[in-house]
Amino acid sequence: MRTSTPAAATRRRGARAPVLEVFASIQGEGRYVGEPQVFVRLRGCPLRCSYCDTPHSWLLREGDRAHIAGGDPTDDAWASPFQVACWVAQAEPGVPRAVSLTGGEPLLWPDFLVELAGMLGQRPLRLETAGAHPDALERVRDVIAHVSLDLKLPSDLGPPVELPRGSSAPEGELRHEPVDDAVPRNAAEWRATRRETLPLLRGRDAVGKLIVTSQSPVAEVLEVLEDVAELCAELPIVIQPATPVARAGQPSAAELDAVVELALELGLETRLLPQLHRLMDRP
Ligand code: SF4
Repeated sequence: MRTSTPAAATRRRGARAPVLEVFASIQGEGRYVGEPQVFVRLRGCPLRCSYCDTPHSWLLREGDRAHIAGGDPTDDAWASPFQVACWVAQAEPGVPRAVSLTGGEPLLWPDFLVELAGMLGQRPLRLETAGAHPDALERVRDVIAHVSLDLKLPSDLGPPVELPRGSSAPEGELRHEPVDDAVPRNAAEWRATRRETLPLLRGRDAVGKLIVTSQSPVAEVLEVLEDVAELCAELPIVIQPATPVARAGQPSAAELDAVVELALELGLETRLLPQLHRLMDRP
């Protein structure tokens, strides 16, 4: 599913990305659960997951504002890597922390990610991604200390949307545009994308996050786990019950146990974890 042109793959300097918020909290998911971190949440996502708990991150608009812990409410969302590095230092309560890039979909902005990684000093830069952009992941993975890869089930996904480009933005021309990789649109394309993405994580500090709802089809779960076992068997799997939102129900203990058993039968390193920050009422 590689659709980037050579020109698109060329790194552009001076890239900016739209920031929704920068804040300090604890990591509530995955391998580094419980670790104090600073979170940089970028705007923009073409996907529409049934369990999405950050739909306010989906849209891209010129004139958006960044919400920074202790910051100015008039700050322009379209920030340079240097500006974001300054916001990270501002949001830290004390000593430097690891930085998690989340979204939205951070891989829409690979040039920005590469430049930001060089401006964070000793802070490891960790990435949370939906896994729909293997080309972008390949471009950034050498500067990323840890990847948390969502293992999406096709039945959880609504039709993806076109992100605004140029003058198609709702409030005027966007000065900076997201990466132009095609997004998978159906189960077959998601599988092809997943099978392209998983080998990129071999030998890396990474984890696969599988969100389970009360509607998760066993066949889809099994296909995802079999792809992991075949293509990146070392990848630890974190099975996460969906936090209930409008379109996604919470799975029962029996449904979760069945998914855990499937992963164990395939020989995968397996964890079952809820979203800790939700339980502790943290952002
Ligand atoms: S990829 Fe993430 S931000 Fe985008 S819709 Fe899914 S859960 Fe929400």
